[in-house]
This record gives sequence, structure tokens and C-alpha cells, in this order.
Amino acid sequence: MGNNGAGNGGSRKSITGRTLYVPQMSYGGAMAFAAAFRSVGVNARISPDGDARTLELGRRHTSGEECLPAQVTLGNFLKVTEQPGFEASKTAFFMPTADGPCRFGQYTQYIRKVLREIGLDDVLVFSPTSSDGYDGMGENVNELMRNALRGLICADVLRKMTHKTRPYELVKGDTDKVHNDALERVEKVLEVEGMATGERLKRLVEAMTVSRDQYRKIPARYSRNRPLIGVVGEIFCRMTPFTNDFLIRKLEEFGAECTLAHIVEWVWYTNAEQQKRLRQSGQRFTVKMLGAKIKNWIQQKDEHALYAPYHDDLKGYEEPAIHRILEYSQPYLPHQGALGEMTLSVGKAVFHYHQGCDGVVDISPFTCMNGIVTEAVYPVVSHQLDSMPIRNFFFDGSQYDVDRDVGIFMELARSYQQRKRTGRVFPGCFPAETAAVV
Ligand code: SF4
Repeated sequence: MGNNGAGNGGSRKSITGRTLYVPQMSYGGAMAFAAAFRSVGVNARISPDGDARTLELGRRHTSGEECLPAQVTLGNFLKVTEQPGFEASKTAFFMPTADGPCRFGQYTQYIRKVLREIGLDDVLVFSPTSSDGYDGMGENVNELMRNALRGLICADVLRKMTHKTRPYELVKGDTDKVHNDALERVEKVLEVEGMATGERLKRLVEAMTVSRDQYRKIPARYSRNRPLIGVVGEIFCRMTPFTNDFLIRKLEEFGAECTLAHIVEWVWYTNAEQQKRLRQSGQRFTVKMLGAKIKNWIQQKDEHALYAPYHDDLKGYEEPAIHRILEYSQPYLPHQGALGEMTLSVGKAVFHYHQGCDGVVDISPFTCMNGIVTEAVYPVVSHQLDSMPIRNFFFDGSQYDVDRDVGIFMELARSYQQRKRTGRVFPGCFPAETAAVV
């Protein structure tokens, strides 16, 4: 691993000898990146879970205009500084950055500013950027990124299995336990230093196969009558249960099964955007375009291999190709002009209609433009999709009782389920004798 500070605001602090904390944009995502960093010799750990102290610390150093993901990320990093034995000169925070209008691009500067103000300037904010191809991450960047992406894919598959199984488990907690064990199994393969890439993929597939068998053993009573709710929205807030008040568990308590938009969707989207930009700048037949296509092909090959053991178990839960999502979004938010998660969320909502879902929930941080735009568009989308219920849930970290809203939404979903015209495809674990509501 390179020893530079990856764009550390001009000062060249080294990452050598530091513990690198990876923020949780989903536990599985943080696990994947932390393990991938360890595989190239960086002592990386997952940053702490969110809790009341997270919000207290995050709010102490924000004005209220920042989005919830910024407060939570900052708050959890500041929690690290309160841990016994903390030493600024031996600590680093992983904070990738990107260009664009989203406030995410400002996080790095903001966190550095706060650390300076509280006298912790010695902490390294390790911030590779997409604009330089993450060159700041040193000579192992390709291995690190491929390893991390494989981890993200595994985490996506396991989360999907968990959401598919948990509502039907007979013993509360069984599914979560299998999920945690499965993540650990993946982590143990990802973190090994110096493993050849083909061997690592083989071992990951083996680990995923063992986990699949554990999921299959969970005592469960599946039913075709439970409404299936598609969950879309802003990536941080939808993937981090603490920031969305554990909405998926609440929906499950109210009788739903949920299917959550996966993280890797964003990777396929950025790949597609990269190729679009190359085409627009006249680089259709260039080495750059060839490189972009090869990268995409290799990544999708990995995804295919890691999903393969779950082919039968996730029948009916397959993710659409990114071009299909953009096609679905086209009448409402054409991707040629509307960018980012709002486009994906609307396209995915249309996909969920065709998938046979009984409703769609869009999770968004309060004041984020993605949710503001999708909320304006959804009435038309719903109207054109047989009035399938689609509802935005906004979160700002304040505790409010979402139960009432979830209850009303689920009533609408059940009512729609009775009259919907699109049927679902079920995997074999759902008994055929239970009458499907179509
Ligand atoms: S998408 Fe919205 S909530 Fe997420 S980081 Fe950007 S501005 Fe914040």
C-alpha cells in the first residue's frame, strides 16, 4: 500500500502505523472495504455503530444545513476520538470523495475543518478521489478496489437473502445470526494478504455456498400472501438502518417483506455514466473506452460468479440491468439530463411494479434533493402504474413515530395487492399450495 496521504489537503501525512476507520454506509459495505484494506497491509476497522451519541457529536459541529449522512459520518468519527487509548497521530478516517452537486463532495473538507477546530489536526483524513482514478491509494489500488467490490457484491447478496428470509423465520433472530456469520465468512477471505485473485474468488464462492446452505436451514414458514415492498432512495440513508429508524424492520413488523436496492447498483450506474461521457466527448473508439468496457466486464463477471450459488434461492428477486432501470425512468426523469439516485429510484420504482411488488418506499434524508425530486414525480408514476402505492419517508435524525405512517402505507399496499395486475415469481421455498394474490 502506498504511504501517502491520498489528497490530504496538501499535508503529506502517512497512513503507515495508523488505524484506518471506514464509515458504515451499510455494515456490509464497511466490512468489505475494511477487509480489503487489510488485504493490502492497512490496519483498517469499521467505524462505530450510530447511536444517540453519534447524533449529539455530529450536531455539535454542524449548523443544521448539512444532510443527515454528513452528521452521522462525522459523529461516528468523533466517537472514535473518545475511545480509550485514542491517539490522533495513529488514527486515520477513510473518506472517499467525488465531484458533483451532492454534499458528499464537501464531507472531506468539512471533517478536516472540524478536526482542526478541536485540536485533532494530526488525524489523517484519507481521501482518494474518483477524478484521479483513486491514484492516491497507492500501487495496490487495483487489487484493493476489486477485492472491495467483491465484498460489496457478497454483502448485497447476503442482505437480500436476509430480507427474503427474516419475515418468515419461526425463531426470532435466526436469520440475523446466519447473516452475521455469513458476513464474517466473507470477511475472512477478503482480508487475507497476498492471495491470488482467482483463488480469492474461488474461496469467496465457497464461503457464499456454505452461507446459502445455512440460510436454507433456517426454520421458516413462507407465504405468498405477505406484501412485497420495494425499497429505494438515497444510498447512505437507505443502506444504514440507524439513519432510517430501522424502517425495513418496521415494515416487516407491519407484515411486509422488503426488497432493498443494492449498493452495487451505484457502481454499474457510474460505469454507464463514464461510458456515456466518453461517447459524448467523441471517444467511442478509444483506448479509454476499451478500458472502461473491460473494467465493467470483469466486475460483472465477478458479480455473476458470486450470485451463482443463490440462483434458485433468489429467483424472482433478480436485479435489473442498469440500462433497464434508466429506460424505466426515461418518461419521468430522462437520464440524459437527470442524474444520480433520483433517476435510479424512479426507474427502480417502475421495475418493482413489473416485478409484482405491492408498493414502493423511498428513503431519503430530509432536505436532500433526491427525495425532493422523486416526491414530486411519484404521483404521476403511481397514477400510470395502476395507483401502486409509492411513498417517501424522510429522516433527519430526530425521533418521530413512523409507525402510524408505516401502518397507513401497509393498508394501501394490502389493498393494492388485492387488485394488482402483475404477478410475482417465487423461489421454490414458497409453497405452491398457498394461494397467490394476483
Ligand atoms: S445525496 Fe443528499 S443526503 Fe446523500 S450525501 Fe448527497 S446531499 Fe447528502
